[in-house]
Amino acid sequence: MKISQISVYQVTLPLKHPYSHSGGRFYADKLDSTIVAIDTDEGVRGWGEGCPWGSAYSPAFAQGIRAGIKELAPQLIGLDPRRTDSIYRTMDMALVGHLYIKSALDMACWDILGKVTGLPLCELFGGRIDQAIPIETSVPTGTPDEMIESIVRGQEQGNRIHSCKIGSDVVQDIERIKAIVTHLLANESVTFDANGAWLIADALQVMNTVTAPILYFEQPCKTYKECLQVRQLTRHPIILDECIQDYNDVVCAHTDKACEAIKLKVGRVGGLTKAKRIRDFCVETGIRMNIAATGGSVIEDAGVVHLAQSTPATHLRAVCLIDDMITINTAMGGARNQGGKPMHQKE
Ligand code: MG
Repeated sequence: MKISQISVYQVTLPLKHPYSHSGGRFYADKLDSTIVAIDTDEGVRGWGEGCPWGSAYSPAFAQGIRAGIKELAPQLIGLDPRRTDSIYRTMDMALVGHLYIKSALDMACWDILGKVTGLPLCELFGGRIDQAIPIETSVPTGTPDEMIESIVRGQEQGNRIHSCKIGSDVVQDIERIKAIVTHLLANESVTFDANGAWLIADALQVMNTVTAPILYFEQPCKTYKECLQVRQLTRHPIILDECIQDYNDVVCAHTDKACEAIKLKVGRVGGLTKAKRIRDFCVETGIRMNIAATGGSVIEDAGVVHLAQSTPATHLRAVCLIDDMITINTAMGGARNQGGKPMHQKE
């Protein structure tokens, strides 16, 4: 089987509700996504998607994906898409770094492998685990009432884990946390995600003021070294997100005891091939994971859900479905939020 053609489509994904990260940064009311179709000489077509959260969130931008695929595609024509590691080595030889560009191509190859073998990707990722996967609510920053309103929408969908964006001001953040924690039900858990907005002193003031057994704090400060210092001076579990760009970052975090969990963003670390390697390392070393896409639609969510479906429940905190956040549908079927769990929607 050989790759015969690679097609690229740009899709604008309007958000249901305008979204901003901590401190009002990274405001977005739509996402710019790239959907890729890989065709083969045997008539099998695979689909992939790549979508950064705008241009200011991480070292990635939407037009970069399309430019990078234009660079990479000629190198892949004629190769066997079922050999996902070999395809990845070819991409890494042709273009150093730029992992987020390679993710959509990698996903389309995995889609072909799944179709050819007749197996869901979760089986190819180590085997399906019969477990319900929790979906987390992604709560944009706002007043305590606005944030609780977002949480209520998530609760109404059945979500029991919520990720709340904070990080604008120490006093306001403490008020937000106290209000939100009071509102949660006994079986719920919450992450407060500063997206790197705090200085070390701010992080310590907030984190060492609030107490509750159900809190995780995510990416308190911008750099890895700052987060590591915060880790050593607080007792809440810490999730590293923006610091985790590739496999070696996770190895380093494990060696330094820098976090208890990571946000495994499949697109950012280079797609399913690389995300699976990180997932396996985390399972071996006791690091818990939130698995998510950086953006995109139900196509990108599909890879996230299959990776989660083959990850032990002990190590999986939640997934985030971007499909919950956008107004349009890019594909039939796929995993949709039903009662706080991703369920396959029949085509
Ligand atoms: Mg985050």
